Amino acid sequence: MIEKKSRIFYSKPSITNLEVEYAKDAVTNGWGAECYSYINRFERHFGAHIGVNYSIATSSCTGALHMGLSALGIEAGDEVILADTNWIATASPIVSLGAVPIFVDILPSTWCIDPKKVEEAITNKTKAIIAVHLYGNLCEMDELLNIGKKYNIPIIEDAAEAIGSVYKDKKAGSMGIFGVFSFHGTKTLTTGEGGMFVTNDKKLFERVLTLSNHGRNKDEKKQFWADIIGFKFKMSNVQAAIGYAQIQRIDQLIARKRKILDFYRKNLESSPDVIMNIEKQGIKNGCWMPTIVFSPETLIRRELLLNEFAKENIDTRVFFWPLSSFKMFEEKKNNSNAYDIPERAINLPSYHDISEEEQLRVIDVIKKCL
Ligand SMILES: *Cc1c(COP(=O)(O)O)cnc(C)c1O
Repeated sequence: MIEKKSRIFYSKPSITNLEVEYAKDAVTNGWGAECYSYINRFERHFGAHIGVNYSIATSSCTGALHMGLSALGIEAGDEVILADTNWIATASPIVSLGAVPIFVDILPSTWCIDPKKVEEAITNKTKAIIAVHLYGNLCEMDELLNIGKKYNIPIIEDAAEAIGSVYKDKKAGSMGIFGVFSFHGTKTLTTGEGGMFVTNDKKLFERVLTLSNHGRNKDEKKQFWADIIGFKFKMSNVQAAIGYAQIQRIDQLIARKRKILDFYRKNLESSPDVIMNIEKQGIKNGCWMPTIVFSPETLIRRELLLNEFAKENIDTRVFFWPLSSFKMFEEKKNNSNAYDIPERAINLPSYHDISEEEQLRVIDVIKKCL
């Protein structure tokens, strides 16, 4: 009998006694006077880690982005520029607010938004530009921030995939008008579901705080009094307890991600037919999702890769589809990198406790394909 090889998951959180203890404490004691205690601690420590003045814990990254865009006054008819290569979560709040996402192409090196294409896409309706740091790779922030300054358009950072990524001494998420993070179960730091809004702009912080509390100002004395229509995208204290444990372990969580990518790199990147997550000088990659892109000459394509990995009981993920290829949007085949790269790319398993033997099983599949 042939024994089936054990399954290798692409992601799985690292939960230690610390998370369990805090969650147990929160569910036992975190009520009444203590009902916000872990939320407050998690927000404070997260903000300190990123190097920002203000943080608001949310139920998801999508919710954090939705509130931030709303606080900037983005509304029907406005345009927001973002990369075509993206998870749908970055685009949906734009659409929900009645604004129009303008998808532009990515750079073949970073897989992130191409600043030249951003500048070409600016119109008098452009109200924001979203820099998404894909798979831990960083956007060209100097160029984007300069474009923002030149046209007086705010730059937003979707750093959902970029905790641990550092651009010239600044942490991802701390450089734009605001940044958002995700703590979904697949992310480097997790609370199961959850997110964070961060900013250094006091006015924007206060606006989002009011929005996050159903439009109720924090200084309002009257109970149940709302000034504006807001949102309900809050994080619970029990989730925050898990997050508070994870933020104390953040250096370890990031170091492990970097080590996993490094091991793949050492075994695979010597091939001239392979590109992996880039780390330019002056930049540190948080390495959320080890990703491999094959050169067009190899004829290694997504379907072949999915097939070969499935045979070995290994979970992999396809490189994000171009959002403009979804039927809700208008197709933009001119975004040639966004349409071409996913055809010959794959995300590799990288959960915290993956062993070298398991990584070698992944590496073997790729070597076989090559
Ligand atoms: C995961 C992710 C999100 C969404 O995060 P949620 O917490 O699930 O809302 C948004 N943007 C990017 C780039 C992501 O990877």
